[in-house]
Amino acid sequence: MNWSEKDGEQPALAPSTRLVTAGRDTQAQKGFVNPPVVRGSTVLYPTAEDLHAHRGEFSYGRHGTPTTKALQQALMALEGPQCAGVAITPSGVSAISTALLGVVKAGDHLLVCDNAYRPTRLFCDQMLKRLGVETSYFDPLIGAGIAEHFRPNTVAVMVEAPGSQSFEMTDIPAIAEVAHARGALVIDDNTWATPLYHRSLEQGVDISIQAATKYIGGHSDIMFGTISANQTAWGKVTDAVRLLGVCAGPDDVFLALRGLRTLAVRLAHHHKSGLEMARWLAQRPEVQRVLHPALETDPGHAIWKRDFTGASGLFSIVLKQAPQKAVDALLDTVRLFGMGYSWGGFESLVIPFDCNTYRTATKWNPGGPTLRLHIGLESVDDLKADLERGFAAFNAAS
Ligand SMILES: *Cc1c(COP(=O)(O)O)cnc(C)c1O
Repeated sequence: MNWSEKDGEQPALAPSTRLVTAGRDTQAQKGFVNPPVVRGSTVLYPTAEDLHAHRGEFSYGRHGTPTTKALQQALMALEGPQCAGVAITPSGVSAISTALLGVVKAGDHLLVCDNAYRPTRLFCDQMLKRLGVETSYFDPLIGAGIAEHFRPNTVAVMVEAPGSQSFEMTDIPAIAEVAHARGALVIDDNTWATPLYHRSLEQGVDISIQAATKYIGGHSDIMFGTISANQTAWGKVTDAVRLLGVCAGPDDVFLALRGLRTLAVRLAHHHKSGLEMARWLAQRPEVQRVLHPALETDPGHAIWKRDFTGASGLFSIVLKQAPQKAVDALLDTVRLFGMGYSWGGFESLVIPFDCNTYRTATKWNPGGPTLRLHIGLESVDDLKADLERGFAAFNAAS
C-alpha cells in the first residue's frame, strides 16, 4: 500500500485520496487494512546496546504507538508539506492549552481574537494570567490593523475563522504577515473547516489546532484534539507535549483515524446540506439573518472564497424579535435537531447563544434571538419539515 522506492516518485495526490492512503503500513499489519489498537506502556529492548542507544521506533507508550503513528502520518499528509509534525491530545481544549503553554513564558503578551472559543479565553484569562502572561482581545475583522495591538513582548496571535457562534471571517494571511514581521507566531483553531477546507499552514499559520472531537471523529463518540505545526513551531509543541505528559487513549486514537478516512465524503455532505438549509432559512419570515460565510450575501464571503475551499455544517441564524418563550417553544418542538453542545457528528443540533456573555473587545448586536445550527447527515427535506414545525410553535408563542 505504501509507496516504495521501486514505485518511483509518489504522484501528487488529491487531499481526498491522501485521506484514504496516508498512514497505512499494510506489511507491518500482516496485510490488514487498519492498524491494531495498540494498548501499551512498556516497550522492550532486545539487547543492552539497543537500550543504551534508545534504538527502536517506539520507546514508551506515552511517546507513541503504531496506532498513534498511523494517525499522525495521515494527518501530516492531509496538512501538506508545511507540516513538520502532528501532536495528539485528549481533547480540543487540551490541544489549545498545550499549544499555548508551548509558546509563552512569564512576561509575555498574547493576542486572541474576540470570537475565540470561550474555553480558550478562560484558559488565557485564568491559567495564563496566573503564570504571568497577559492576554488582550482584538476585533476578528481587524485584518492588518492588528499591528496597532502589538507590544514589544507579543509572542503569538490566536485566531479562529469563522468564529464558532458568530461566524465572522478573519483575514488570517494579513494577520500572519504582521505577526511574522514582528517575530510572533500565529495559532489557528481550524476546527470549523478542518485542513480539508482551510489549509492554515499554507496561509501563514504556524500552529493549527483541531478539536478532533468534531469533524475528524465525526460520530459524536470521542473527545480528541490535534496540534499540527510547521518547522518553526514544531519544537515548541513537542516540548510542551512531552513536559506536560499529554497523550490519548488507544481506542480514541483508532476512532479518530477511522473518522479521518471518511472526512471528505462527510464534509462534502455537510457543506451541501448546510448551504441548502442556510438558503432556505434566509427566505423564512421568522429569520432576520443567516450567519454563514459561504452565502454570497455574508460580509465574510470574499475572505471565505479566497482562503477556504468548502464550508462545514455549522452556522447561526438571527430570529425576528420574539419573547424567550417563543424561542423555547421552537427548541421544544423540533425533534431531528437535538439540543446540545459540540458539533461535527452525523446528527443535527440546535443551541441558543449570546456572545455578549464573554466578548470584551467588540459588541455583539444581532438584533434578535440567536440560534446555532449544526446540519447533520439527515435528509434536508426532513430537516426543513422539522424546523417548519418549530417555526409554527415559535409563531404561536410570539
Ligand atoms: C469544541 C471546540 C473546541 C474544544 O474541543 P473539545 O474536544 O470539546 O475540548 C475547541 N475549539 C472549537 C472551535 C470547538 O468548537
